[in-house]
Amino acid sequence: MKQLHIVLIPFMAHGHTIPMLEMANLFHSRGLKTTIIATPFFSAPIHHPIGLSLTPFPPPASSLPPHIASFDQITPDIGIPAFLRATELLQDPVEEILRHLRPDCIISDMFLPWTADSAAKFRIPRLAFYGTSFFSRCVWEQIDFHRPYNNVVNSTEAFLVPGLPHRIKFLKSQISPFRLRENGKNCFSEMFDKMNESWEKTYGEIVNSFLDLEYAYSDHYKNVIGRKAWAVGPLLLCSSKDQKRGTESAIDEHECMAWLHSKKPNSVVYVCAGSIATFSRAQLAETAAGLEASGRDFIWVMRKNGKDEEDLVPLGFEERVGSKGLIIRGWAPQLMILNHAAVGAFVTHCGWNSTLEGICAGVPMVTWPVNAEQFYNEKLVTEVLGTGVSVGNKRWMLRESEGVERDAVATAVEEVMAGGGAAEMRRRAQNYKEMANKAVEEGGSSYNSLNALIEELSNYVAPTKEDTN
Ligand code: UDP
Repeated sequence: MKQLHIVLIPFMAHGHTIPMLEMANLFHSRGLKTTIIATPFFSAPIHHPIGLSLTPFPPPASSLPPHIASFDQITPDIGIPAFLRATELLQDPVEEILRHLRPDCIISDMFLPWTADSAAKFRIPRLAFYGTSFFSRCVWEQIDFHRPYNNVVNSTEAFLVPGLPHRIKFLKSQISPFRLRENGKNCFSEMFDKMNESWEKTYGEIVNSFLDLEYAYSDHYKNVIGRKAWAVGPLLLCSSKDQKRGTESAIDEHECMAWLHSKKPNSVVYVCAGSIATFSRAQLAETAAGLEASGRDFIWVMRKNGKDEEDLVPLGFEERVGSKGLIIRGWAPQLMILNHAAVGAFVTHCGWNSTLEGICAGVPMVTWPVNAEQFYNEKLVTEVLGTGVSVGNKRWMLRESEGVERDAVATAVEEVMAGGGAAEMRRRAQNYKEMANKAVEEGGSSYNSLNALIEELSNYVAPTKEDTN
């Protein structure tokens, strides 16, 4: 069988590049020639004999300031539309690279829908990577199709998502206003339209998940929504544990581990909201008060709000909590922390990578979604898997999230650490951890699913003009 050459094209955000690099490692380990086409934002963490072709970003013709390299660097004054337009300008340089590489398949991020046209030009299949769960893909498609939010009058009313294997409800305020299309056409609704249109030229989807986690939803996605999809995850288990993830840690990792070593098993709460979400100062003060009221030891990762260089830690908080709390200002070594025996719960914003990392660590979660598809992932954890409790956030917010009170934080933390259902949640979480490891082992469902994909790609024959007419 000829060696397949796969090209991966990630979107410039840590939550998208991290799993793409893990996917590249996986394909390489299975004997495929693997090349990543990316912007210089991506270059640092590559250590393997994986090809890397870089193209400048921002592209010369874009209106973005030259220092903007990734999604998390966008501030309100720069704006997301300019960033998304700049990514479209990558099409020509990327196609120039493809002309030279001549790969057999493209795997590209959902936010780069033009890559479906590029693949069609080169008569090769394009696989999309949405970087989320089957569950949220199903919710997403059913909400878009049925628009069940139109059945409720006010934004704090719940609606049922029709057609799913479980009865899943959301408040209208938990759905992105861009998805509700209440504000007319905007850069997000245009992006969603382009993503939908790109499905005509997209062969299928690679999903960073595993069947034992959400079999009913993988089945629903393939057989009810009708999409080809391969679950090959958790990708994080396919990479070396020493692989640098994202960027440099803002804390000395030995110091962080030493702090955790000094704590009892399952006694520490780890709090992190990923690489993009931001909170108002009022919300940070409530969170601090809630953590303090819980009486638990904690690690709290504090991102900077865009260009705001001021310290966001509420005044006097660090001194008051002393050795009970460790605050990391900037990037945390999340995987290392989550897998330490001292960590007993994960307060997470439910980005899919973080959620999956919590699952693979076997840690129960307090779910605190903020935006993107995070409210969907919350339901998977709290209502389908039964491995976490919600902090009760009711509002999807693009920036400066707020509205969760200190009592809600303290109560949710206590429920997960020592409430009536805590032991069962921990048992279930440990069970999913074992299943995750089995899925990627030789003979496991994700291992076999990748075999099936490789075989299908090896036999791929591009449609002729007659086929497409
Ligand atoms: N991450 C990390 N340290 C941090 C913040 C985030 O290692 O301080 C990693 C985290 O482990 C995950 C990714 O960044 O792999 C964030 O992806 P996710 O989908 O959870 O959320 P997003 O940042 O896209 O909202």
